[in-house]
Amino acid sequence: LIQLFRPLDMLGMVYRTVRQGLIDMAEMFRLIDTDAEVKDVPGAPALLIRKPTVAFDNVVFGYEEDRTILHGLSFEVPAGSHVAVVGPSGAGKSTIGRLLFRFYDPQEGRILIDGQDIAKVTQHSLREQIGIVPQDSVLFNDTIGYNIAYGRGGAGREQVIAAAQSAAIMPLIERLPEGLDTEVGERGLKLSGGEKQRVAIARTLVKDPPILLLDEATSALDSRTEQEILATLRRVSEHRTTLAIAHRLSTIADANKILVLEHGRLVESGHHTDLLRRKGLYAEMWDRQRAEKSDSG
Ligand code: ADP
Ligand code: MG
Repeated sequence: LIQLFRPLDMLGMVYRTVRQGLIDMAEMFRLIDTDAEVKDVPGAPALLIRKPTVAFDNVVFGYEEDRTILHGLSFEVPAGSHVAVVGPSGAGKSTIGRLLFRFYDPQEGRILIDGQDIAKVTQHSLREQIGIVPQDSVLFNDTIGYNIAYGRGGAGREQVIAAAQSAAIMPLIERLPEGLDTEVGERGLKLSGGEKQRVAIARTLVKDPPILLLDEATSALDSRTEQEILATLRRVSEHRTTLAIAHRLSTIADANKILVLEHGRLVESGHHTDLLRRKGLYAEMWDRQRAEKSDSG
């Protein structure tokens, strides 16, 4: 039995590791097999950013032919500003992020960064300029240093340390027995949700992108950790064009502009106070979330 058990155990470990790897890949590139749908135009130039403005211009998109998800969506994120996207679950918020990172091309309309249609530039140059912090960041079974450096191939130790400092994870790293060389993930040190998000933020900072895409980056965290991570995100997103998809409205109330999406349509947009005054969907969501919060104490 022991003889049998050992190889099976090994296999289980390898399987888990491989599976973990696949999850990592999916997380890093989101649905990698859909990647093949999107190809570089022959001779496509690189995206050249002087002012990192982002614009959706009448974007129509559906994953399947007979089901449109975004119905002619238009909005602008001025360079360096913070725009939040809110709305009920299934409204199409994450789809906006997937289109911006060009996992898919719109069926109609265009997505422009600094005036350039992202469908016409190389995917590599596009993705280099956008940092993503997703809801659940998954770590590679490797050292914490590797996990941070992954944001940019060939990042040096100094860059990694600078990024870890900005993401406020350096105090933790300094307490680890092997510092940056400490193994994390399934076989190594288990990090908390908040610590993992800090690694993800550091990974993004190593990339130093002018554009940030936060997709419910703090929604899996308890409210105290959420406040801490939000403070870090506020700091690192300063001077970067930021598109933040949010579930909890209290986390984006200070955005320069809030877009309210419902069934793939922009139903309201404006500042938090404007939207509350309108007494529309946003005000309704705000009241509901406040009530839930006071219910749960
Ligand atoms: P949100 O982030 O606002 O909750 P999403 O953008 O993830 O919503 O999804 C919008 C709609 O698109 C949902 O109805 C969802 O079921 C559908 N959808 C998302 N991803 C896919 C996919 N890969 N294939 C088909 N439908 C999808
Ligand atoms: Mg989503």
